Amino acid sequence: MPMMNLRDLYVDQLRDLYSAEQQILVALPKMIAASSNPQLREKLTKHQTETRHQVDRLMQIFDDLGVEATGHHCRGMEGLLIEGEEILERRGRIPPELLDAALICSAQRVEHYEIAGYGCVRTFADLLGLDAHKKLLQETLDEEGHEDHVLTDVAKHKVNPEARA
Ligand code: FE
Ligand code: FE
Repeated sequence: MPMMNLRDLYVDQLRDLYSAEQQILVALPKMIAASSNPQLREKLTKHQTETRHQVDRLMQIFDDLGVEATGHHCRGMEGLLIEGEEILERRGRIPPELLDAALICSAQRVEHYEIAGYGCVRTFADLLGLDAHKKLLQETLDEEGHEDHVLTDVAKHKVNPEARA
């Protein structure tokens, strides 16, 4: 599809995020299964539920635009999750506290990538006068930002001190 205007770019970026979220939904259960710290598990599990809601929000937006959600593969997220897989492969070979610390690094890279993408589409929705979309995308952006802070908190107060011990 040729890209002619800001709306086309908006749809393209939304599809990129949709693909990213779908990939995250596959990766998160593996990350949860590999994590040892109960708080980390709990936070990741909660974010799994949030991620399903984020996909629902994107679906609402695609419905409203009358376009398909699929047709784009987010290679950036694929790369981040391949690196995450490399961490998961160390399971059983490194101390669990270190694995947790590494998982948090990986999860925070994912969050920052999402924050960048959602920031762009939220701004595009605003410029295009799509206020309902802007509201939905801002909700997701807030969740991603919150998750990043939550992960920093768990790392600082629980996982990193244990990894250093
Ligand atoms: Fe997300
Ligand atoms: Fe996220």
